[in-house]
Amino acid sequence: MMIVTRFAPSPTGRLHVGNIRTALHNWMWARANGGRFLLRIDDTDAERSEERFVEAIRTDLGWLGLTPDAEVRQSERFALYQARFDALVAAGRVYPAYETAQELDLKRKILLGRGLPPVYDRAALTLTDERRAALEADGVAPHWRFRLDHDAPIMWDDLIRGSQRFDPATMSDPVIRRADGSWLYMLPSAIDDVEMGVTHVVRGEDHVSNTALQLQMFDAMGAPPPAFAHEALLTGSEGKLSKRLGALGLDHFREEGIEPRAIRALLARLGTSDPVEAIDDAALIDTFDFARFGRAPARFDEAELAQLNAKVIHGLPYEEVTDRLPVGMDAAAWHAVRPNLTRVGEAADWWRVVEGPVDVPEPADDDREYLAEAARVAATIDWAGDVWHALTGALKASTGRKGKALFLPLRRSLTGLDHGPDMAALLPLIGRERAIARLSHQ
Ligand code: GLU
Repeated sequence: MMIVTRFAPSPTGRLHVGNIRTALHNWMWARANGGRFLLRIDDTDAERSEERFVEAIRTDLGWLGLTPDAEVRQSERFALYQARFDALVAAGRVYPAYETAQELDLKRKILLGRGLPPVYDRAALTLTDERRAALEADGVAPHWRFRLDHDAPIMWDDLIRGSQRFDPATMSDPVIRRADGSWLYMLPSAIDDVEMGVTHVVRGEDHVSNTALQLQMFDAMGAPPPAFAHEALLTGSEGKLSKRLGALGLDHFREEGIEPRAIRALLARLGTSDPVEAIDDAALIDTFDFARFGRAPARFDEAELAQLNAKVIHGLPYEEVTDRLPVGMDAAAWHAVRPNLTRVGEAADWWRVVEGPVDVPEPADDDREYLAEAARVAATIDWAGDVWHALTGALKASTGRKGKALFLPLRRSLTGLDHGPDMAALLPLIGRERAIARLSHQ
């Protein structure tokens, strides 16, 4: 069986970490099984959907490396929904209802006031033909509800939550279409899952009760349902997914210098029993398993992402960053500075240190003679070899200095800084001429 997953965002805003996590897991599950990962743009709501968000979704997925195998848009599939809808109406599974929003609200309040669950009373099903005709003659357009089958409990084995059971009698027949003919989320989504051959629906646990309803829709359409995996939601460090985090688009992370790989590595493992590690996609995909997801909300921590990002960068191959490095910075330079970076952009700072000019601080009085000696030694050693060890070895022997007294004045003079990348890797990049000049404080 070909595994097919889909990511189905509504283009009413930017993707946030919660959406991205869902997209990632759908992508991973498809990749893990040699299957297909589809993007479905849920744009049935013409008023709230915006083209700029559709574009942002594509850009964000592309940047994250989660390129879909195909894309569909719900707004282009209305004929399909209409056909399925007509069949369901003919079969008596979808029915017209004429209550106004105010009437429904009142019914709910009365039930709640009596301490009863606010379940729709199905009054529309008891309307006589004459009453319905009269309403229509008065120009009252109906909205449409899906009639739940109350005969048996709704059950499924959720890939994350385990065995699930809902009593349909405690649920309202869901409104699937508004009086103006526009579609609500529930039925088009189920139709698309059937038509697109979706085998696994991976989404947040806020959709669990929708799944119960949609299972009956699959059944009413005579289609086998997909498997479902409902993930515990993401929370911020301070509790629920904060407004700030919920509003943060990928731009924010991109601007912070966060690598797509780091986002993938964190979100792949967050909320699972596997440790968060800076490992590559193949390894993440290999170990991906719904059974390893917990039921507790997973905590998203930006500080953890930043740490993971640094680890990811320390392992990034030169080929992957070439176009983001300053001109002239080669693989050796990348490897020299990589362990000191928390974002790739900082490589340029170290490249400036290599190329100069650097602001070399005035040496302390006791270091003047030592640095003059260092400049002399630097002129005599073999620059083709391990030049840092040759330099420091010779200076140790000639001056008796060791440790910090041996190394720090050299680092300061050569780079203008007290800390930085391993001098053994940096010095060959600085090169003979520049090194001698800096050590001589010219
Ligand atoms: N557009 C829906 C949402 O963003 C899709 C849910 C689903 O995956 O079916 O919540």
